[in-house]
Amino acid sequence: MRACVFEGRNRFSIQEVPVPSPRPGEVLIRVRAAGICGTDIHILRGEYFQDFPIVAGHEFAGEIAALGEGVEGFTVGERVTADPNIFCDHCYFCKINKNNHCLNFAAVGVTRSGAFAEYLTVPAKCVFPLPERLSFSEGAMAEPLACAVYGVQRSRIKPGEKVLIFGAGPIGLLLLSLFRVSGASEVIVVDISEKKLELALRRGANEALRADGSEKKRLREIAPFGFEVVVDATGIPEVMEKALDYLEPDGTFLLFGVAPRGASMRLEPYEVFRRDLHIVGSFAVKKTMQYALNLLGSGAIDVRDLISSQYPLERFGDALEEVLTNKDRLKVQIVYDS
Ligand SMILES: [Zn+2]
Ligand SMILES: [Zn+2]
Repeated sequence: MRACVFEGRNRFSIQEVPVPSPRPGEVLIRVRAAGICGTDIHILRGEYFQDFPIVAGHEFAGEIAALGEGVEGFTVGERVTADPNIFCDHCYFCKINKNNHCLNFAAVGVTRSGAFAEYLTVPAKCVFPLPERLSFSEGAMAEPLACAVYGVQRSRIKPGEKVLIFGAGPIGLLLLSLFRVSGASEVIVVDISEKKLELALRRGANEALRADGSEKKRLREIAPFGFEVVVDATGIPEVMEKALDYLEPDGTFLLFGVAPRGASMRLEPYEVFRRDLHIVGSFAVKKTMQYALNLLGSGAIDVRDLISSQYPLERFGDALEEVLTNKDRLKVQIVYDS
């Protein structure tokens, strides 16, 4: 089979490798669509906790091609996606229901071969049937949506609250949809790309503001006392620093964007004290994959317009180039022929 192998820092090639065989308890999946995520870029740059060589790709959907020994409840040919995070279920954090902090962390496309290959194996316990109405491309959006669902859970949003989101990339726009269905009275989105702001409006943002300095005045008009929930979906420390100014007392700042490791932001502790602020992070997926599939399967959240381009595996380099250089791009996916 063909696979895109990350061989070392910033080095990858398309290679012919053997199709893996599923071990007991695993399934073999024939990949049909796989999204490129910021994490994949970090992996390629050697900034994440994995060893080279590695086949990345953790957002995917496909068909079951074979079942390992002892696997029940799935059939060959079934359309599926998977939660890439593999929890051990017996360490300290797994025992106290903090599985995303599993001490034996393993993940498809991070610590073991992922979806930038025609086939991959996944433990059956991580596999989810794809709702009928979803295409494989939409199914490959379930994992990023599951991450966003966890973030929204962490934000403690309540009906009638106002939300401000910095960043209208695929994640910012998924968060927008989730806050909408979670009862926010208003969701305001700020970004630098006109195209993304237009899409934010089409996807239900009350206002979409360009981050050119003029947004400050407008945000004060919209919410003189601030927003109950402010979200960073940019990962840029300078944006995060400013975002805190828009929090209402007792508000929650959700740091969703992944900042570069070692980067820091200025924060006035007195303000956190005086204004009763909550600052929360959100790491990966914590048993939210089924919720993401419920939202996609019912049509409550539509992800079709979030997929901006698709490339065959052979053109992985072009896909990567687009991710890194096109500020208007949304989710870029690798697709595999039937
Ligand atoms: Zn991801
Ligand atoms: Zn564990």
